[in-house]
Amino acid sequence: MAGKSKRDAMNLSRLVQDSSVSRWDDDVDTLVLGFGCAGGCAAIEAARGGARVLVVERSSAPGGSSALSGGVIYCGGGTAIQRACGFDDSVEAMRAYLMASTGDCPNAEKIDLYCRDSVAHFDWLVSLGIPFKASYWPHNYEPTTDDCLYYSGSEECAPFNRLAKPAPRGHTVQAEGSCMGGRLLMETLVDVALREGVEVMTDANCIALVAGRDGAIVGAAVRHDGETRYIRARGGVVIATGGFVMNREMVARLAPAASRTAPLGNPFDNGSGIVLGEAAGGATANMHAAIYSCPVLNPPGLIRGILLNERGQRFVPEDVNHKRIGEHAVLRQDGRIFLLVDSEIFEQPAGVRPIVATGDTPEELEDELGWPRGSIGATLAVYNRHADEGHDPLFGKKAKFVKPLTAPPYAVFDCGIEATGVYYSFTLGGLCTAPTGEVLNAEGRAIPGLYAVGRAATGLSAQSGGSSGLQLAEGTYFGRLAGRAIAAALKSEAA
Ligand SMILES: Cc1cc2nc3c(=O)[nH]c(=O)nc-3n(C[C@H](O)[C@H](O)[C@H](O)COP(=O)(O)OP(=O)(O)OC[C@H]3O[C@@H](n4cnc5c(N)ncnc54)[C@H](O)[C@@H]3O)c2cc1C
Repeated sequence: MAGKSKRDAMNLSRLVQDSSVSRWDDDVDTLVLGFGCAGGCAAIEAARGGARVLVVERSSAPGGSSALSGGVIYCGGGTAIQRACGFDDSVEAMRAYLMASTGDCPNAEKIDLYCRDSVAHFDWLVSLGIPFKASYWPHNYEPTTDDCLYYSGSEECAPFNRLAKPAPRGHTVQAEGSCMGGRLLMETLVDVALREGVEVMTDANCIALVAGRDGAIVGAAVRHDGETRYIRARGGVVIATGGFVMNREMVARLAPAASRTAPLGNPFDNGSGIVLGEAAGGATANMHAAIYSCPVLNPPGLIRGILLNERGQRFVPEDVNHKRIGEHAVLRQDGRIFLLVDSEIFEQPAGVRPIVATGDTPEELEDELGWPRGSIGATLAVYNRHADEGHDPLFGKKAKFVKPLTAPPYAVFDCGIEATGVYYSFTLGGLCTAPTGEVLNAEGRAIPGLYAVGRAATGLSAQSGGSSGLQLAEGTYFGRLAGRAIAAALKSEAA
């Protein structure tokens, strides 16, 4: 009870009634909270629709996690780059892949919409001046060059290659070096926004939403220069403040599996916007969900080994995206996984992967690991029987990675969370929204004047499914839809 009343009191301070606001310091059409990719795209579209837009950004410069990102954007259905690189893709294949790969309750409405508009959305990004090179990167990890298109998910891998025609859909912003595309993406969005007349206030932390008597959100309170400023927003407030992976208390409470891994994000990925939206009556969903990055099969020659759980059994085709391996490892194998190689494919992995057993026979490995006799032996016997014929009927690893492991000595690397330190995560849960970004309450009704986009909202994926690029895709795309929805509502009101 004490906890509940404390939370009620905190919610009250996060939601202020307009009757208690004695003076508005500014009056805009659209107030966007946070200038990452989602806030930036919402601001651009609202401004293009004729609205006066102010973005308040807690940090000293726009960018957020979007600027730290690799700049991989998941687009498909036949983009100009896919066609130029000789790949045939369709809206149906993209839709089928996303429906199959994004967890138990994929958001069909948002997936449908995004797949239908994906080509046009990609063209829009290009029209802003964001560079993409018409080139293919033939690996399943982020380009380390300025190349663009690659399989950023597990489209080519089992079981998805049986469910949907594969096509590479990771479009990487052209920039030299690994993980530089996000910075360029954000520099371009900032330039375009400023050109469109969007105003930006940095070092400005939104601490409360302001509600009218009917519960509609009419503005926000922002701390700036040591003062609290009240900003009225006639058309709506857009929460675009990112996720909550940096708020370790929230992660421990709501997404506990992620608390075992290192957080990936900017310091203000602390859930502040999600909490503000909740105080205004917004419902949340998928708060347990996270992306788990775990690049343990590096160099890629190690994909020819087999990943084992603590029972000596395989659990995933080794050629899937490392985020899919991460999801399996963290959520289903308690973060304890191992890689078995023979002498023919032995390579020193990049980074720390301690060797925990070596031996000329499976029995020697089992004894060294303290695992039951036959556990590795049975797995290896089945794998090798089929690998001799060049295939992997149990998990469907692609033939080019299948090789009988018959050349002793064998080695087992520990690829688990504790041993490697290369497991990273960020959260996927957030405020429930309609595709227009309108925040929904627990009954599914929109809260007038309140929008949420990007990682502060629930998006396409209930689980990551291990496809890189979906966050920037949904942040930019649904950000745009929210900006347009606000501008359209303002216009119809004026009419
Ligand atoms: C290293 C790294 C690599 C990644 N690579 C990729 C990739 O290649 N492709 C991909 O799709 N995803 C990638 N991601 C994930 C992706 O970057 C994020 O999920 C996405 O950028 C979130 O966008 P956003 O606009 O919702 O939030 P952000 O970009 O984080 O922007 C939110 C902004 O809100 C501000 N803010 C927070 N609270 C407040 C407040 N109370 N008041 C005012 N402002 C506030 C923050 O300072 C921030 O600038 C990567 C993430 C990281 C960290």
